[in-house]
Amino acid sequence: MPNPKKRHSTSRQGMRRANWKISLPSINSCPQCGQPKLPHRICINCGFYNGELILPKKVKTKPKTEE
Ligand SMILES: [Zn+2]
Repeated sequence: MPNPKKRHSTSRQGMRRANWKISLPSINSCPQCGQPKLPHRICINCGFYNGELILPKKVKTKPKTEE
C-alpha cells in the first residue's frame, strides 16, 4: 500500500483542507430590464432569455364574483 513517508505539518493539512472553499456565483445584469441575474439562466424579473420571452409574466385572474 502506498503510504506517506513523512507526517505532514498542520499548516500543510490546513492548506489541503482549504481547497473546498468555493467562490461566489458570478452575476450578470439582464439586458432587458437591467436587474441582476445568473448567467445562462432566465431573468426572474422579466422572464427573458437571449432576447426572447420565455416566461410570460403571471397575470392575476380575478375570481368571478357570484351573484
Ligand atoms: Zn430581465
